[in-house]
Amino acid sequence: MAAKILVVEDDRALRNAVVSALQSGGYQVEFAADGSAGVQALTAKAFDVVLLDIGLPFVDGWHVLSTLEGRRLPSVIVISARGDQADKVRALDMGADDYLAKPFGSDELLARIRAVLRRAQPPVQVPVVARSGQVAVDLSRHSVSKGGEEVRLSPTEYLLLAELARHAHEVMDYRTLLHEVWGPAYGDERHYLRVFIQRLRLKLEHDPAHPEVIQTVPGRGYRFGPAIEP
Ligand code: CA
Repeated sequence: MAAKILVVEDDRALRNAVVSALQSGGYQVEFAADGSAGVQALTAKAFDVVLLDIGLPFVDGWHVLSTLEGRRLPSVIVISARGDQADKVRALDMGADDYLAKPFGSDELLARIRAVLRRAQPPVQVPVVARSGQVAVDLSRHSVSKGGEEVRLSPTEYLLLAELARHAHEVMDYRTLLHEVWGPAYGDERHYLRVFIQRLRLKLEHDPAHPEVIQTVPGRGYRFGPAIEP
């Protein structure tokens, strides 16, 4: 079934271009022309992906994004004219899965959509539970618990954690993680990792300031669980 995408964008010309690019990509597309219509659409229906402009009339994209916090779906791609790093980090911090700076071409747009949809797919069945401290990652059931309580993660958070958990007790370097979770074009985007590791730590660590579940290995990467002594 075609993935459902909501486009929240007030600029009519850009919105029409995005909607027709997505439709020709085979997606089911709806749109909202301002922030409040966007919130309404998201409350009324389930979407797989939201393309969310930040500069919107009535309520801005940050507000729309905050209403999605803690919900598992949809994947969110923030689009913004302000292509600066601070907006990008803020968007990721607030739970967005990706960030696209205007102007962008339809090929890039469709590639980002495919990437977030791929990340939202349940992974291939692997009957393994990896543990670090109180945290258990069930890689076959696609679920995570802390002290026996289920922890809710976004698709991207889960993918990153699962990648670390599949290689428990090994150091995963920055580039490999970025490549596996976000894609080959993201090898140098370390701030994505910093933001998502911090989000995972807030959800999983007893004391996020002194992480034990996901450990930082300075200058190299991250490790799920302690190193195994030889
Ligand atoms: Ca706008």
